[in-house]
Amino acid sequence: MGFSNPVYSQKKVVFIILDGIPADVLENTPTPNLDEIAKLGGYTKAYTGGKAGSYSETPTISAVGYNSLLTGTWANKHNVWGNEIKAPNYNYWTIFRFFRDANSNAKLGIYSTWEDNRTKLIGEGLQETDFLKMDYSFDGFEKDTLTYPHDSQKKYIQKIDNLVSYEAAFQLKTIAPDLSWVYLEYTDDMGHRYGDSPELAEAVALADRQVGRIYESIRYREEKFGEEWLILITTDHGRKAEDGKDHGGQSDREREIWMITNAKELNSYFKNYTPAMVDILPTIASFLKIDLPEKAIKELDGVPLIGDISLINANAEIQSGSVKLTWVPIQKTGKVTVSYASTDNFGQTGNVDNYTKIADIDLSAAEFRIPVAELPSGKLKFWIQGENNGVGVWLIRLRLNFAKSITKRNLWIF
Ligand SMILES: [Zn+2]
Repeated sequence: MGFSNPVYSQKKVVFIILDGIPADVLENTPTPNLDEIAKLGGYTKAYTGGKAGSYSETPTISAVGYNSLLTGTWANKHNVWGNEIKAPNYNYWTIFRFFRDANSNAKLGIYSTWEDNRTKLIGEGLQETDFLKMDYSFDGFEKDTLTYPHDSQKKYIQKIDNLVSYEAAFQLKTIAPDLSWVYLEYTDDMGHRYGDSPELAEAVALADRQVGRIYESIRYREEKFGEEWLILITTDHGRKAEDGKDHGGQSDREREIWMITNAKELNSYFKNYTPAMVDILPTIASFLKIDLPEKAIKELDGVPLIGDISLINANAEIQSGSVKLTWVPIQKTGKVTVSYASTDNFGQTGNVDNYTKIADIDLSAAEFRIPVAELPSGKLKFWIQGENNGVGVWLIRLRLNFAKSITKRNLWIF
């Protein structure tokens, strides 16, 4: 018995980060479970690290990347620059907080080999996150050195990943939180220790089996309960080209990541362009129909990978005394509205910025120029709103002269 046009009882999402797997390593390692998921939806190479050499340049470091996924913004906004997670800007909400805010009944889960993901990035129980509470969490085992004594081969991380993946599979099957994050680490440890190596490939193959375990639970829920599940799997950064050991810089191989999903409505941005880490939040929000506040939408650095979108990739530069804004139209027809704000109330306090409209023009024009003299001085936040989505870009004039000489990312914090 089958239904040609199923009515899904509920939509649910799980996203999985497998740490530090370069796209070329993934492609050269047999991963039958990931392949099966990609066959239903898609596989794409993608990038992290913000726009290299610009105000949004973001270190290709683990926690930095996770937070770009969680908040849909680059580090200049979310303000996590390293694994120490010193001072996140919690005005940039995580997908978990957006979901909880829009739906107080939403059930949130995290299954993770690194406790800081919950306590610092999600910021569970912090005043700054309005005491956001996860409904289900399974993590912190890396701090239990009696059960998991730390060995130099990082076998303890392999064991914890396995434990986490089993529990995630069990809870997704039996409890099925509406939104879950699974984080597995062992692949990164093998990368750091052995670089491009059989050990890294073996770790990738193991991660594939762990994902397979979780995917099996999803299939069970879909068949047994008629739920519609979105699964998104990605990595947080690549690795250095020379030996595959380290990461953190802006080389192509460090910036390159990948995404695998079962999503059925992947758009041409996913299929024909190179998506970014920051596109995952808008994708999840779109799938779950989370009503994001307008002021927060205007801060997002990503766009949805499913459904119709109008434009991508806004850029701003000064050319011959004018600010030149460009974008890439995805639709052939339609209009865009260009506006700007000269305040950063949102970043400072989470409050609204007032945008001034400066143009209504054809989407297909793909650019708009306005004399610098007609704009206020200081930092400007531009927003280009199309029919189906908008894209933003900042112009930070005082900093542009330094762009080429800057090597210390801290100089970009303001
Ligand atoms: Zn990492």
